Amino acid sequence: MIQLTQERNQLKKQYPNLIDYESRRMFRHFYDQAPMPSPEQPIEDVKAKTGLLGLGIRKSKFTRQFQRSSTEAMERRKQLRIGIPKVLNIWSTAPFWRTYFETLGIEQKNIVFSDNTSEEMWQEGGKYGSIDPCYPSKVAQAHIHNLLFKHHTEHKALHAIVFPCITHIPTHLQNVVDSTSCPIVAGAPNVIKAAFTKETDFFKERGITYFDPAVTFTEPNMLKSQLYEAFSNFLQITEDESNFAVDQAWKAMEMFDQEMQEKGRMILEQVEEENRIAILMIGRPYHSDPGLNHSILDEFQVLGYPILSMRSIPKDEVWLRRFFKADLEGGRKDRFSGFKTCFVRCLIHKFFLKYSVKRFNTSIIITVSFAAHAACHFIFF
Ligand code: SF4
Repeated sequence: MIQLTQERNQLKKQYPNLIDYESRRMFRHFYDQAPMPSPEQPIEDVKAKTGLLGLGIRKSKFTRQFQRSSTEAMERRKQLRIGIPKVLNIWSTAPFWRTYFETLGIEQKNIVFSDNTSEEMWQEGGKYGSIDPCYPSKVAQAHIHNLLFKHHTEHKALHAIVFPCITHIPTHLQNVVDSTSCPIVAGAPNVIKAAFTKETDFFKERGITYFDPAVTFTEPNMLKSQLYEAFSNFLQITEDESNFAVDQAWKAMEMFDQEMQEKGRMILEQVEEENRIAILMIGRPYHSDPGLNHSILDEFQVLGYPILSMRSIPKDEVWLRRFFKADLEGGRKDRFSGFKTCFVRCLIHKFFLKYSVKRFNTSIIITVSFAAHAACHFIFF
């Protein structure tokens, strides 16, 4: 058994598994954010005034100083510990949350993600009641339980748990009507709050504040006001500080995407050159959690197949044009665009299915946690 494990580990080192890499990297600190501007730094702002006779709105730019919070508030933030469950859309946005809080002065070590999903975690924390239809949302209660009962201790207290209702997430597809989250994903933070406060308020008992603000990742200005509104009192921050932290958080997301796409491009070019096959996992972002994908990808990895994630497929139009050339020249100008009436993840799945069909060096594994999703893929075919 030991020898077998050693052989498997050796094989794993030889063949890259980007699902595994991505699932570890995204929760760690990898982006060194720019320092918060000083109060002397001038910034541009916009003033809005009602027009003459109360008609219309007139906007004018002006320069003012960057507003900083007090030294006491900054010192207080250094002591705060924030827990975030590793579930649902956090698997798309983790670098954003880490960078947002770090930029505002929360220490790296004080941003605590729950553990990966496991059978033990579910056994311990899956009894708090939920009628959601699928395991990825049901298991969110076990992650909150993991934060409350394992990561919050007498000596290392959590002061807040942040589980935002992410209503919209960005997509690389164009011409889509909308890019909304699945309603189960968007609503799960509210359902979980009810489960942990219904009979006993587990958060209050421990002095933890639970944050489940509704936020959209497709309207950057709205996101800024939503985050300021949600965290200004708790973190004692100014709006300028919060906005600056949001800008840094976007940069971290961009850097992560670029890094993953660069890694994916190298693998794809290599398998094409060597006439080998790579495997692309098509699934929801949370299927990168080994507890949800059941480590199926590892089995293919030890058979000698490099594993790609959807995030790692290069998205630049010049590169994709090679595979969609015939469609584009044949007048199908919507090849990078949506199938307009689906949730964003379904659209993205369809895009990658089409991509794999056109790319002969890529095989696919589709992971689903809910039968309706499988139906959706096959209707497309
Ligand atoms: S996309 Fe499907 S599996 Fe995922 S949370 Fe929504 S209903 Fe559940």
